[in-house]
Amino acid sequence: MTAARTVTVLLSSDLLTLGRVCGVLRRRNAPIHALNVDWNGPPGLWRLTCEIEADEATVESLVLLIQNVVGVRRASASSPPGPLSVPERGNEASPFGDPMSSSVRVYYEADTDRARLRDRVFAIIGYGSQGHAHAQNLRDSGARVIVGLRPNGASWKQAAADGLEVRTVAEAAKAGDVIMMLVPDQEQRAVYEAAVAPALGPGKTLMFAHGFNIHFGEIVPPAGVDVSMIAPKSPGHLVRSEYQAGRGVPALVAVHQDASGKSLPNALAYATGIGCSRAGVLATTFAEETETDLFGEQAVLCGGVTALIQAGFETLTDAGYAPEMAYFECLHELKLIVDLIYRGGLGFMRHSISNTAEYGDLTRGDRVISPAVREEMRRLLADIRSGVFAKEWIAECRAGAPRFAELRRAAQQHPIEQVGARLRAMMPWTEEGKRAKPKAPRPPEREPARA
Ligand code: NAD
Ligand code: MG
Repeated sequence: MTAARTVTVLLSSDLLTLGRVCGVLRRRNAPIHALNVDWNGPPGLWRLTCEIEADEATVESLVLLIQNVVGVRRASASSPPGPLSVPERGNEASPFGDPMSSSVRVYYEADTDRARLRDRVFAIIGYGSQGHAHAQNLRDSGARVIVGLRPNGASWKQAAADGLEVRTVAEAAKAGDVIMMLVPDQEQRAVYEAAVAPALGPGKTLMFAHGFNIHFGEIVPPAGVDVSMIAPKSPGHLVRSEYQAGRGVPALVAVHQDASGKSLPNALAYATGIGCSRAGVLATTFAEETETDLFGEQAVLCGGVTALIQAGFETLTDAGYAPEMAYFECLHELKLIVDLIYRGGLGFMRHSISNTAEYGDLTRGDRVISPAVREEMRRLLADIRSGVFAKEWIAECRAGAPRFAELRRAAQQHPIEQVGARLRAMMPWTEEGKRAKPKAPRPPEREPARA
């Protein structure tokens, strides 16, 4: 249904950015009224507003494309009257400086068009963590699926055993209307150049589950092709098991290129095909997904956590405490805490620990994550946003990853790994515990002979 909706864009105050935003607005040739650019917020920002008369899907895809323009801080459209409308969160009183989350849209199954799965062939390239789940879920949702793999690889046998049609990457890409790239990120460019690019042409859709290669320009698809992302926020086995349970995992949706004008509804249909719209699909951009993903894994989930664990372990052992004690306190118990956080957030965790632990948490945490640490986090983010990290990682991969191998070796030799392996052998549910031979029961002590 066509209705007038107000589009608001916050952009950096330069004509180049303004020109790019206008270029995107012009692309759909939709009638635009009341275009206005003003400034009454923080320095360095302009606000563009206009009214667009177009259908729901067109406005949504325009907003996603505008969000991808370099220099745009935020783009949103006023809520439409139809079922796609989701109440906007946050404080709408101030158009400047309100958090990004105020414009996050969430799509559910009712907002998506399952019929778009019909009459289209889905080529799933790669059959690892994500690949096996996407391929099987789409097939079970009634879509025609072809898995693209290297001939004679281990994944080929597995996909065939799971009852899927398997072809080489080049053949699958040729047969597919939608080509989903699910080989490891560092392999994607080579696979794309050798076997996917030759199969691309107008009417085809190239999809990703992570934005790295598009955002950093490793893959530059031709203009006539739709380019979108459905990124489940969970590992593949959960994408599969939740689907089988009649549920789904949340995902992100982004549109990089909208040649057909239907990129967004098609991507949302894919999300329904793998079960994600049952949980909710959040609108984002390739830039936002890539930058926050890299930051999360570097500063918190992987880099931050492992460095914190090791620093705590070293502090205790340097002070003369037993490595076994340091292991339990700084590593083993982390799972118990994370399980609580995962279940109910920080508040639930704090409610479950002792008052002493909670007081120590609330008064000492900021001393660990000091202003200097926060400053370093900002530097990590700056390196991600400028492309410095991506350039370094791509160059490392091209050189055969020698430094990466050396860093892995050194990390494996840290004392926390040695003591950890010994302790986990005492825990039957761990990998080492499963392999450890059960200890023979000690013979009962003999009763001392009575005099
Ligand atoms: P994976 O390592 O589990 O699987 C990779 C698959 O690609 C395997 O089947 C492998 O055999 C195949 N493969 C590798 N090299 C190939 C080549 N040269 N030609 C053909 N096939 C090849 O990968 P994954 O973790 O599923 O990641 C796939 C994508 O999904 C990535 O973009 C990743 O960022 C994204 N993603 C992963 C997760 C996750 O939790 N694993 C979550 C969200 C998004
Ligand atoms: Mg991630």
